[in-house]
Amino acid sequence: MARIPLLMGNWKMYKTVAEARAFAEALGQQSAALGDDVEYAICGPFTTLHVLRVMLPTQVKLGAQNVHPEKEGAYTGEIAPGMLAEFGTKYVLAGHSERRMLFGESDQLVNQKVRAILEAGMTAVLCVGENSSQKQDGITKEVVTGQVRHGLEGLTAEQVAGVVIAYEPVWAIGSGKTATPDDAQYVAKEIRAIIAEKHGADTASQVRILYGGSVKPDNIASFVAEDDIDGALVGGASLDPTSFVAMAEAVRGVVR
Ligand code: PEP
Repeated sequence: MARIPLLMGNWKMYKTVAEARAFAEALGQQSAALGDDVEYAICGPFTTLHVLRVMLPTQVKLGAQNVHPEKEGAYTGEIAPGMLAEFGTKYVLAGHSERRMLFGESDQLVNQKVRAILEAGMTAVLCVGENSSQKQDGITKEVVTGQVRHGLEGLTAEQVAGVVIAYEPVWAIGSGKTATPDDAQYVAKEIRAIIAEKHGADTASQVRILYGGSVKPDNIASFVAEDDIDGALVGGASLDPTSFVAMAEAVRGVVR
């Protein structure tokens, strides 16, 4: 089964409602450039989700950046999976490196989030990646495959097939540095291999693996052209509609 490429924006803590509306309007004017051969999503701050849902072109799905694993409860400041699902959210990030590093999210919590996202009927985007000292120590493969194994613990093969994995070297996020396409492909292949080991080659072949880390319009094609890379998770360059469309066109150029 062919994997549909996915271009996903992560807005982090950027954009007011007015700014999100302006983005959606601008993207709407260029929606013909998006086509229907690639899937798109924007993970906006919670306050922007309503305007994005109403105004984004239909090809662009709604994503959230975080969720609490419990269905409901006394968790001030948190948001439940069912709340996001009811709202029309399709994708939810779990284990973004900023959440792991700045908010102390463990592999165990990330796994609970992945399961909760799936139980609520949404698609989990499990983010994994090594930091610079792990890269220097030559343990990228061990770190990343370990995060994948923990993140997918307790899932059925059918559930795993629908998960998206974002390989994002921590040192490449927001730094202007990227992995080489060869290195990113090597890690993506290892991710697929570890999934195949546990759940079989057929399941592994269905999982979409994204690269993330300083992806821009002028480098995205080189990653998506790799056999095991099915799209990109993009921070900074997803904030500008012109840049988003340029990345969409670059991905479509590879797909064709
Ligand atoms: C990200 O936020 O996941 C990311 C990859 O950011 P950037 O594209 O800005 O490096």
